[in-house]
Order: sequence, then structure tokens, then C-alpha cells
Amino acid sequence: LEQQLRQSERLDSLGQLAGGIAHDFNNILAVISGYADMLVDELTDDHPSRADAAGIKQAASRGAALTRQLLLFSRSEPSQAELLDLNAVASDMLRLLARTLGEDIELGTVLVPDLPPVVMDRSKLEQVLMNAVLNARAAMPSGGRLTLSTSLEHDGGGGNQVCLAVTDTGCGMTPEVMARAFEPFFTTKGRGSGTGLGLATAYGVVTDAGGTISLESEPGRGTTLRVRLPASAENAPGVSPAAPQAAASAG
Ligand code: ADP
Repeated sequence: LEQQLRQSERLDSLGQLAGGIAHDFNNILAVISGYADMLVDELTDDHPSRADAAGIKQAASRGAALTRQLLLFSRSEPSQAELLDLNAVASDMLRLLARTLGEDIELGTVLVPDLPPVVMDRSKLEQVLMNAVLNARAAMPSGGRLTLSTSLEHDGGGGNQVCLAVTDTGCGMTPEVMARAFEPFFTTKGRGSGTGLGLATAYGVVTDAGGTISLESEPGRGTTLRVRLPASAENAPGVSPAAPQAAASAG
């Protein structure tokens, strides 16, 4: 736990650093944009440099849009870790989606009852899920099925992991896209509609909480995004954690 804490502190300060740079850079861009504005105003319509000044202005506002996204990506709000029941998280999300997704999307859940809780920041997990749902929605332009499911897995080391998956019946991903999907700024969506920061942010949030995140996808069939989080033993008082396996002495 101590190591996890140190890791998350390190990630927090990295995020703060990136966020601070993005913030300062945004101020610099505002100054560039302001001077370019003045220049455009000072130059007559037929002045040969007027188009150049307008070009500076445009580039500065593109830069400002990018730093805004970067700020969001590197947001380093401290985590408010709490015990979460992933079935409840999935059910809440379903209720919200039922009202917001179009009628061409068939919604469903497949929930395994009596899951152990996980320890995670609720709003960060909801952000991860919401991004997954928006990606699923975008992958099904002519409708389809979106399923939220939970399950329990043994992690091979004597512990359990609780899984939450978002499955769509959309366009799927080619192996090339899947290999790069978690890369910051990788997007197949057109300029302006995708930031390429959704899955990269999700990756950071989930690994920060001690979990893993993975994709399964088949072009033309659909995609599953799976989040696995360590099961907490906190709801099972009186049950002592499994004794560590006796390791064979290596001599
Ligand atoms: P963005 O949505 O802004 O592009 P993401 O990081 O969320 O950024 O996703 C990166 C890319 O991964 C997307 O552009 C898309 O090509 C692919 N992708 C993500 N989720 C899905 C999905 N459910 N179905 C198909 N492709 C997906």
C-alpha cells in the first residue's frame, strides 16, 4: 500500500507539473493572440502582411485549444478513494445512459451478484466509463447494442479482481488502431472531434488505482473495454486474508 501511495503521489506531481506548464503556456498563447489581434486591426485590408497576422492568430487559438485538452488530461485533483460496488456503478451509469443515448442503441447489463468492493475515486471511474460509452456510441453510427458487465476473476496470486466491461457491437478496431489506442493524442476521429486523450486518461486513472485496463476488438463485430480492479477485503471482517503460498526455496 505504501508503494502504491508513493506511486500515486509521484503521478500526482507529474500531473501537476504538466498541468502547470499547460497553464503557463496558455497565458503565453493569450499574449501572442492579443498582439496578433492588434496587428490585424492596425493593418489595412489590402496590406500584404494582414494575412500573415491572421495566420498567427489562428495558430495561437489552435494552440490554446490543445493546451485546454492537455490541462484536462493532466488534471491532478487528489483521488477521493472510497469503497465502490461496481454493480451499483454500472446500474447508475445505465440509468443515466437510458435517458441520454439514442433509441437506436439497445442497452443492457450482465451483472454478477455479490461482488467484493473495490477502492477507487468514484468520479474518476465514472469519467473512464463515460469516455468508453462515448467511444462505443461513436463506433455504432447506425445503432447497435451496448452492454455493461461485471465479473470476478482470480488474479493468480491468491487475490481477486473485480472487472467492469463496456461492450459494443460497433465497427471494431484494426490491430493497428488497437495497438495505439492508449497512446496520448492517438485518434482516428477527425480533427476537432477527437482529442485522443480519452483512453490515455483512462489508462492513467485505472493504473493509479492499482488496476489494469485492456481492449478486445474485432473489426466489423465490436469492442470490449475491460477495467480490472483489485478486490478489497474490507467488507469481509473476520475473514483473514489468504496466507501467502509457501514459496519453494531457491537454495
Ligand atoms: P478519441 O475518442 O478522442 O479519439 P480515445 O483515446 O478515447 O480518443 O480513443 C482513441 C481511438 O481508439 C479512437 O479514435 C478510436 O479509433 C479507437 N476506439 C476507442 N474506443 C473504440 C470503440 N469502442 N470502438 C472502436 N474504436 C474505438
